[in-house]
Amino acid sequence: MAISHILGFPRIGPYRELKKAQEDYWAQKIDQETLLQAGQAICKNSWEIQRSKGLDFVTVGDFSFYDHVLDTALMLGVVPARFRHLNHQHAIDLAFHMARGYMPGSQDVKACALKKWFNTNYHYIVPEIEPTTTFQLADTQLFDQVMQAQALGYHVKPVLLGPLTFLSLAKVQGLKKLDCCQQIIEVYRQILTRLKALNVKWVQIDEPILCQDLTPEWQAAFKQVYAQITIPDLNLLLTTYFGDLGENIDLVSTLPVAGLHVDLTQQTLMHYSRFPTDKVLSCGIIHGRNVWRADLRRLYQELRQAQEKWQEKLWISTSCSLLHTPVDLTQETALPTELKAWLAFAVQKVEEVACLATALTGGLSHVNAAFEDSDNRAKTRQSSAHIHQAAVKDRVASLTESMFSRQHPFTERARKQKQKFKLPLLPTTTIGSFPQTQHIRHLRHEFKAGNIAQEIYDHAIELEIQTAISLQEEVDLDVLVHGEAERSDMVEYFAEYLTGFALTQNGWVQGYGSRCVKPPIIYGDVSRKRPMTVRWSLYAQSQTDKPMKGMLTGPVTFVCWSFVRDDQPIATTATQIALALRDEINDLEANGIEMIQMDEPAFREGLPLRHHDWQAYLDWAIKAFRLATCGVKDSTQIHTHMCYSEFNDVIESIAALDPDVITLESSRSPKELLKIFEQFAYPNDIGPGVYDVHSPRIPTIEEIVDSLKQTATVIPVEKLWVNPDCGLKTRDWEEVKVALSHMVAAAKILRGDQRE
Ligand code: GLN
Ligand code: ZN
Repeated sequence: MAISHILGFPRIGPYRELKKAQEDYWAQKIDQETLLQAGQAICKNSWEIQRSKGLDFVTVGDFSFYDHVLDTALMLGVVPARFRHLNHQHAIDLAFHMARGYMPGSQDVKACALKKWFNTNYHYIVPEIEPTTTFQLADTQLFDQVMQAQALGYHVKPVLLGPLTFLSLAKVQGLKKLDCCQQIIEVYRQILTRLKALNVKWVQIDEPILCQDLTPEWQAAFKQVYAQITIPDLNLLLTTYFGDLGENIDLVSTLPVAGLHVDLTQQTLMHYSRFPTDKVLSCGIIHGRNVWRADLRRLYQELRQAQEKWQEKLWISTSCSLLHTPVDLTQETALPTELKAWLAFAVQKVEEVACLATALTGGLSHVNAAFEDSDNRAKTRQSSAHIHQAAVKDRVASLTESMFSRQHPFTERARKQKQKFKLPLLPTTTIGSFPQTQHIRHLRHEFKAGNIAQEIYDHAIELEIQTAISLQEEVDLDVLVHGEAERSDMVEYFAEYLTGFALTQNGWVQGYGSRCVKPPIIYGDVSRKRPMTVRWSLYAQSQTDKPMKGMLTGPVTFVCWSFVRDDQPIATTATQIALALRDEINDLEANGIEMIQMDEPAFREGLPLRHHDWQAYLDWAIKAFRLATCGVKDSTQIHTHMCYSEFNDVIESIAALDPDVITLESSRSPKELLKIFEQFAYPNDIGPGVYDVHSPRIPTIEEIVDSLKQTATVIPVEKLWVNPDCGLKTRDWEEVKVALSHMVAAAKILRGDQRE
């Protein structure tokens, strides 16, 4: 008997129903009841999938109307003081207000920070614990969901974000994180007591920080906290994911939990042979973050050995929540048949988990057909003629040292660039995208459906570029962008121009809140089919005398935000992409585009969770960036951009990328960024964001002046650029115009001050 379950199911709905409901609710097109119903329908659908495919539990509590970390904060009563007295009628409004900083009919408040969830591209809302925070059980959403699922007859396993991971993700003011333990323990005890009263037998408690290096204090905290939150007759399944447990296996083995879940995508079960056999070992053997079908026979053999040891205590699962995979492969009707046969999305992964459990419970004879099918799919992939390209492999094999460095160091380049561009002090610019109107999305949709001609679509893009340029000239920005109207997404757009990439029709994954992305699938060797951005950059430059930045996405972001092939090292894939980008950058330069931005927002999130793996990652990531950008003249200015990450531990590596200018997101947590620059003298030019683009709230001129003055205390003003946090794609034109004019006004005030 092998129990099967998953750690969580995607919550956006098979057709992004959640996004639609959220956005309609924010626009006051639907009422709260309708929003709640949309959420319930999504939950019911995912529970039914789990049961009908044969899982032993359905996971409850993985759904959220915005973010599960935010929900945990609300459940624990962790609400920043600035949101406490706004008298929302419903907890959902408070959640949306904290996430977005804006709520119709209420006041604008600075939104809570957004950060990337471990090494994924999912963003969570950072909880803020203040000296005035009182932890208390303050929300019943989880219990309501458990009761709903039970009423429908499901065998429920609720999921909670663990107390220590919660604390480690929180921003804590005025006290030490671990000083909150006692208070947080009380609330978790109350939550678990209520779940037990609901007749729940197993609770999944997520502690992914166990896959990170823990100091002795945090290890001790695990012992202290788990000794106290464990209550009789309620089983805790402690779940760890996004890596291996390393030394923490000994710590975890001693905790009074009934079971442990481990991520087996990077390590085999062998590493867990020390784990006690009187506890449940849940094997996260189906990859929760990629889209590749599992080799079921191989996994079965690995599990069989473990089954001899753990017997009925061996459970089968996905490595992590399926939040990070698209919902259902059967909806894809346009993928090449050959490729589609190699893929599994969330629904298919549920089937794989159930199939392995059936094999272990009933024997191989119960899964003959499924296993043979799996064998065949693996074979066709190995022998496919569409994966390998000799020319690409040769080029990667013959790289030379000089391809990884600019001709001269930054100071010399900066001098030449100054002469060429003649920019004022505190140059103003934006990150790349301008608002994407319904109109242009609709046109793109029609164009892809073959309903309008290429010339008509191209002309519409030109008009959008003109609009973006006139706005930028009107508000008097110094360095312009073309606005990225031709891009649905900064990774997806390029996929069409590169070999080895495939695009899905409906393979959406939640990024944060209502924002979803459709990561491409990299299945083969990558090379550039034809220039990707040159046409639009040249058109844009022809419309203005000011410098126009060429706009590209970097190799690290490509591999982090795509589903990458698992049949070669990621470093090799990144190098192939870097070469394609190098060709593009060289083409842009040859055509007179002499400022080129290559975004790397995923640079930090790609960092492995354990320190001892960092250097290997940084080595290939830095090399890939440099390989792409170092083929240009000294006088060509290379920009990059990063956002929504902790930069402090990678700032030196960021400097090692050697971009001439970097723009960084910082307006939700400016103090943290300042601290970094107090400690590290960043060598090149830098623009910390002064406008939070994820909030409808517009900063005043005074706020921007203040923030720039603050920054100028730690970064020489000659090195500073003035820009928003990130792309403006999600905002509307009116807001953007006001916000950018405030930004320019602030820069001009400070330039005046400097002259006096
Ligand atoms: N150039 C991109 C844009 O402005 C960068 C987006 C990002 O950092 N995620 O949209
Ligand atoms: Zn960004």
